Formats: sequence, structure tokens, C-alpha cells
Amino acid sequence: MRNPPSLIFAKIPPIWPSATAPVSIKDAEALAMKNIKGIEKVSYRNLEPQSAVDITASITAAEAKYGALGINEIKTYRNVKSGNLMSATIDANQNRTLRINTAKLGDVSTLDATLSRNVATDWAVSRNIKELTDHEVGHFLQYKGMTFKDAIAQDKDLGRFKAFGDGISRYGQTHGSEGLSEAFVLVTRGDSVGPLVTKGLKVFMGVEL
Ligand SMILES: [Zn+2]
Repeated sequence: MRNPPSLIFAKIPPIWPSATAPVSIKDAEALAMKNIKGIEKVSYRNLEPQSAVDITASITAAEAKYGALGINEIKTYRNVKSGNLMSATIDANQNRTLRINTAKLGDVSTLDATLSRNVATDWAVSRNIKELTDHEVGHFLQYKGMTFKDAIAQDKDLGRFKAFGDGISRYGQTHGSEGLSEAFVLVTRGDSVGPLVTKGLKVFMGVEL
């Protein structure tokens, strides 16, 4: 007997055990629409339902702690050639969108191999889809309360802070915004970060440790 999404959700804490996976992508989309603050549109097309649930779980856990992230839309796309797995974008109309590349995330075993390789080579810290989402949540926290113009200006500023990624990941060293998003994955996981990054998380993301 299937539970309707609202019932599934009512019973489960922000991080859901896999046993409570909804039975379809449609259920997963309904869960996201119901539980992500202010969300207008969700498509998890071509993702496995558990992946979709994990993405929603990371977002709702973050919103419970830090308030609404202001995400307007979640959508999937497919680009085999792109190195992007997921991205958090803001556009000139202040729309915030989470974009998910199903060429990378559509198949969980392929994703596991990619993430294991990334972690083993110190390229990135995320070990699973929840942590990948946490990284993008980090970017939405950077945009929080900002206009597109301010977000762009801040991003440019953050370009000077590549040291945020030192000792965290090589991807984190490519740009200050990436360093902070990678650090956010670590602190969400319960790991500690150094004083410079702690300050960066507070100044640029409002995250107090
Ligand atoms: Zn990033």
C-alpha cells in the first residue's frame, strides 16, 4: 500500500532513511513542491526516485536550519560533455534555480564511481547526492537576500579568496565561492574547518559555527 507523499513526509525527519523513498518521481516532485519553501516548479525527470528524495532532503534540512533558500525552480537537463553535476544559479530576474545534470546523476552507480574518484583524488569532498546538494545549498546561501547584481559582485570578490579551499579540495581552490561551498559540505557533515573558512562562512553565507 502506497502512502500519499504528505503522509510519508509527515513521519520522517529532515534526513530520510532510504526505506521511506517515495515510489515514483511524481511523488518525489510532490514532496519537493510541498516542503521546499517558496518553490514554484520542480522537475526531477530522469532521476531515480531516491536521488530526488535525497536532493529534497538536503534542501529542507538546510532550510530548517538557515531559513528559506529562495529556490524558485528545480530542473533536470542532460549534458554528457559537461563536467557539471549540479549547479545553483541566479538570473537577472532574481530567479534561483537548481539544475541537475542527469547525464551524471541519472544513474546512481555511475555517480558513485564519479564521486569516489573525486574524493580519492582530493578533487571534491561530496561522497553522495545529499552532499552534492549541500554544496549547491552553499551557493544558494551565498546568494541569499541578494539581487542578481549583488550576487555577481560578491562572486567576483570571492574570486580573490581561493585560500578558502586550502586543505579542503582542489575544486574548492578554484574559486572562493567553491571553497566555501565545499566547506559547507564538511560542516554540514559535522567536520571542523579552520578559522579563515569559519569567518568566510559567516561573512558570505550567514553560517555561524
Ligand atoms: Zn559550486
